[in-house]
Amino acid sequence: MDRRAELFIGGRWVKPQSDQVIEVFSPATEELIGEVPEGSPADIDAAVTSARVAVDGDWGRSSAAERAAVLARFTEELSKRMDDIVTAQVSEQGAPVSQVAAVGSGPSLDVIRYYTKLAAELIAEEVREGSGGRSLIRRVPVGVVGAIVPWNGAWPLAIFKLAPAMAAGCSVVVKPPPETPLSPNLMAEAAAAAGVPEGVLSVVPGGAEVGEHLVSHTGVDKVSFTGSDAVGKKIAAICGGRLRSTVLELGGKSAAIVLEDADLASTVGGLALNSYVNNGEGCMSDTRILVPRSRHDEFVEAFGAMASSLKVGDPFDPTTFIGPLISERQRDRVEGYIFSGVEQGATLVTGGRRPAHLAKGWFVEPTVFANVDNSMRIAREEIFGPVVSIIAYSDEAEAVAISNDSDYGLGGSIWSSDVDHALALSAQVRTGIMAINGFGFQECSPFGGMKNSGLGWEMGPEGLNEYLALQSILLGAGSFARHADLPTR
Ligand code: NAD
Repeated sequence: MDRRAELFIGGRWVKPQSDQVIEVFSPATEELIGEVPEGSPADIDAAVTSARVAVDGDWGRSSAAERAAVLARFTEELSKRMDDIVTAQVSEQGAPVSQVAAVGSGPSLDVIRYYTKLAAELIAEEVREGSGGRSLIRRVPVGVVGAIVPWNGAWPLAIFKLAPAMAAGCSVVVKPPPETPLSPNLMAEAAAAAGVPEGVLSVVPGGAEVGEHLVSHTGVDKVSFTGSDAVGKKIAAICGGRLRSTVLELGGKSAAIVLEDADLASTVGGLALNSYVNNGEGCMSDTRILVPRSRHDEFVEAFGAMASSLKVGDPFDPTTFIGPLISERQRDRVEGYIFSGVEQGATLVTGGRRPAHLAKGWFVEPTVFANVDNSMRIAREEIFGPVVSIIAYSDEAEAVAISNDSDYGLGGSIWSSDVDHALALSAQVRTGIMAINGFGFQECSPFGGMKNSGLGWEMGPEGLNEYLALQSILLGAGSFARHADLPTR
């Protein structure tokens, strides 16, 4: 049982300003596993005030090398706690331990290391020659960042925001969701042990009200949000009203396009991860599988066999592939989609029920629908559970058209033995992230969506730019000499 009485505000554990608590339940056992203070608007105020002091003071003016030293200590302290962080994430979220370790937590440290290096290499000031003389271009931290993350990987998703923000010299107030506050609190412990300077990082868990207070706060300069498109639109409206920029990393309904020449066994094997990672609660999961009509039945048989072979159960068992869904409500919601698929005439190939061998926990069997039409609800809406729709296409043009016929544009993949051809085809797909014969993303390449999947970027230099503002300074005659040694364009 993880019981905590304090909140991490401004770099210190402090008494919360309300006596509300968040109870955390294991999705696998339905038992109470933790109790932490729920942040209140007053706690957010304290965090933002402290963040403002840091960004207007020493932290905002620190050198990239000074920030690199802080981030290196933070990374070290996170590494020391990695087993505990993985355990907390598996306990509170129900994601299988093998995937949390491999896909979730390890690469997060790579993200911090990447941004530490990138910030050190950043040209913070450069001189440009123009028709009116010379200008100095300066990159400065954008200021106080409000970072809101969902439950399907709360702490790694927080790292994706605070690593570039802190490397850029910003201070960050993170709001984890009420479902999974335990692993973000361990992240805060690592920051405290690393001596992250006062005000630079706060972690204030809470629900929609606390999140909205953070987003609306006049002391917040930039909002970085990961979550649903419904909440993303509300946040965009609030930030639009305040004329503050946002990064919005939202949902998806991604398609895997299986081409005529794709190898059946390796494609189906690979798609297990694309479609069912994180119990199907993945923003970029391939939940629509587009297959040539000529290969539909053969593919459905192989994919159904793969799905029904995935081990469902205790997320701490290293051989488990599918753990429980986050909550009873989410399990019921997913079952509602399964019901709608049957009702709208799709063929239920496998799954669709609660596993008979598990008496407790919010589990749903890995589910496959075939003969799905792209107009059905299961093909259009983000289900966020282990439910996959197989859709037949007649030719590649139709495959691309079906893939693009979605309100979302986050991920996707193409499976073929002709990589050059798959790569050429990927240019026609309107999504931000694609993979050829694979799945995933990495710290060096921008991560973000088109259409309802979001605005702005995480990862890559594009992710660092989100946390930098520009200043343009015309250099009068007297200032030429001082800037003579700066890079010139
Ligand atoms: P959600 O939008 O309900 O909640 C996300 C976060 O926003 C939570 O911390 C929540 O407490 C907070 N929140 C809710 N209402 C708010 C409001 N009015 N103002 C401010 N904050 C508010 O999403 P969820 O159900 O927790 O997460 C699942 C969603 O996240 C899915 O749509 C998934 O695709 C998306 N997601 C996207 C990415 C990505 O990188 N694109 C990654 C992971 C998850």
